[in-house]
Order: sequence, then structure tokens, then C-alpha cells
Amino acid sequence: MGHGGAYVTEVAPDVEARRRAVKDAQWTWLRQVHGDTVVTVTAPADGAGSKADASVTDRADCVLAVLTADCAPVALVGTGGVVGAVHAGWRGLRAGVIERAVDAARALGATDLRAVLGPCIRPECYEFGAADLDAVAAALGDGVRAVTAAGRPALDVPSAVAAALERAGVTQLEDLGACTACSDDYFSWRARGELARQAMVVWRD
Ligand SMILES: [Zn+2]
Repeated sequence: MGHGGAYVTEVAPDVEARRRAVKDAQWTWLRQVHGDTVVTVTAPADGAGSKADASVTDRADCVLAVLTADCAPVALVGTGGVVGAVHAGWRGLRAGVIERAVDAARALGATDLRAVLGPCIRPECYEFGAADLDAVAAALGDGVRAVTAAGRPALDVPSAVAAALERAGVTQLEDLGACTACSDDYFSWRARGELARQAMVVWRD
């Protein structure tokens, strides 16, 4: 997992070079739309540019990438060399993108899956509207409800990720813990209006 410096608003001329500096291969990057579509990647760069928010593969020569600022980047690692990359914002969480990605990983033969959660916005920084919070809680349970540092209603994205994984039967979750909004180490649209994104890049060694 690292900073790809891969911009979503325009493709900078050096973006391919930046990608290859992270992992020298053809990436499957996605046109992320906060939905629940998952791409199963069967050849290098397969599905690149698809309107989807997750990808899975069992191929060692395929590189999966999602871009995030405050949304959750979730990596899946399973038996049989199956890996996955998920972009999960609140809309995607509500839509079930994590459950769909786990299904797709299992369809490739992964019987035992674990997940890694990268930097995302944390509840202390994520004040959230009551109606939208109710919608996420209806999908994933009241554990997603939290409060901000200022005592306002908040969405707990890491708890929502854990709840979605549990519903899909994945109980092993490693949370890297960083908050994009209050850490200067990461880009945040919500906190600082930054257009750049973190890239989470997943591949088999
Ligand atoms: Zn924070």
C-alpha cells in the first residue's frame, strides 16, 4: 500500500511512470462510482477503466488498484492466491460492495479470506447527516453510529467495513488505523478539499 500520486480528475502525463514506480506492471484501475460492481481480472490490465469499485484476481501477473481520499481502501487476501481491492465509501458500503467482492473472491476459489483496511476517515472527523446515517445503519447495524470529536453524529467507516466483512463471513481484519482527515500524511477531500488520492495497490508476490 503506498502513495501512487495517481490523480482522478485528470490523467497527468507522468501518471503511468508513477504507477510503474509503485509496481512495474499494467494496473487494473477502476472508474469508481460508489456502486457494488466487482471486476474479476483474468489478464494484466483486464477491466481497466471499468465502472466498478472493486476487483479480484488469482493471477500473479495482475495488479489491482483503487484510489481513495477519505473512503476506505480494503485489500482482500485469500487462499489459492486470490487477492482483491475494494473502494468502500458510505454509498458502496450501503450497496454491499464489500460483500460482492468477497463473493467474487470465493468464486475464484478462496476459501479462507482476510482483509486489511488502509487509511480512511475516522468517526472523530466524520460528521454525518442523520438520514444517511440511518440508511447505513439499516444496512449494516447500529455499530456504524458514532460521534465526532465535537460530539456530533458521525459515521464509523471502519466499523461499517468490519460489519460488512462479517456479514460476508470474513472475521480477520487488520486495521492500519490512520485517519485521512486529521493526519497530514494522507490526502483528504473532506478535511482539506484535496483532489489527489491515495492509491491502494494489491498484487500477489
Ligand atoms: Zn481524524
